[in-house]
Amino acid sequence: MAVRARDDEISRAAQDVEDGVERASEAAAVERLRQAVGRGNGGVAGLDSVLEALVARRVDTVLVSEGYEAPGWRCPSCAWVGTMGRRCPLCGEDMDQVADVVEEAVEDALAQACRVRICRDNADLDVLGRVGALLRF
Ligand SMILES: [Zn+2]
Repeated sequence: MAVRARDDEISRAAQDVEDGVERASEAAAVERLRQAVGRGNGGVAGLDSVLEALVARRVDTVLVSEGYEAPGWRCPSCAWVGTMGRRCPLCGEDMDQVADVVEEAVEDALAQACRVRICRDNADLDVLGRVGALLRF
C-alpha cells in the first residue's frame, strides 16, 4: 500500500513536470507566433487568416486556445473552409454550415501533417484571436 502510494506520488510529480515543460513550450511557440505576426512574416493570427493559410497549405504549426469554437462553412466540392457562407469563394458551390470550423481547421491541419498545439490559459494567444499559425513559407 505504501509502495503504491509512493508510485502514485512519483507519477504525479512526473506529470507535473511534464505539464510544466509542455506549458513552457506552448508559451515559446506562442511567442514565436507573436513575433512572426508582428513582423508580418512567417505567421498569421485570427480564424480567417488561419483558414486561408490552411487552404493554401502554408501552415507548419497551428496554435489554438483550448475550448475555442466558432461556426463556419465548408465547401463539399473543393473542401474550402471559411467563416462566411454560403457561396464558396473558390468554386462558387453552395457550402455546408459546420457547427465548429475550428475543429474542421484542426482536422485539415492534421490531414496536412501540420503540428497542432492546443494551448491552455495563454493570454497572448487569446489576444491574437485565440488561433494562429506558424507558416512554412
Ligand atoms: Zn468550393
